Amino acid sequence: MGVFKVCGCGRSYSRETWSDLVLAGEQVDEVERSELRHCPCGSTIAVRIAVRATVTYAIEESPKGFVVVRQAGTREPERHVGWARHYSTRRHAEEAIRHARRSDTGAATRLGVEIVDDETSGT
Ligand SMILES: [Zn+2]
Repeated sequence: MGVFKVCGCGRSYSRETWSDLVLAGEQVDEVERSELRHCPCGSTIAVRIAVRATVTYAIEESPKGFVVVRQAGTREPERHVGWARHYSTRRHAEEAIRHARRSDTGAATRLGVEIVDDETSGT
């Protein structure tokens, strides 16, 4: 059984024995969500349970119609990916965003990523 977390006192925990420890809470910042538990030695120890990512979508007008711009990234490691696609009508652009949002959410779930700030902007 793999080691999931080692405390400074030397005790080590598998996923199963980790969840037997008393829960001390959760810690959330822009980078990750962590779970805190009490080790019998008295220390509070944390493990990352999800990486947090930001995804934004925007619609911009262009001479040929509308452009959907998607940006996604994580803070640590700093990693950003994006794309821009052209659509002839605003309705198609909005449809593309709905589709991208669904597929981003699905991919995030499979990867253990939590989407923090998922917003659409545009005029
Ligand atoms: Zn300990």
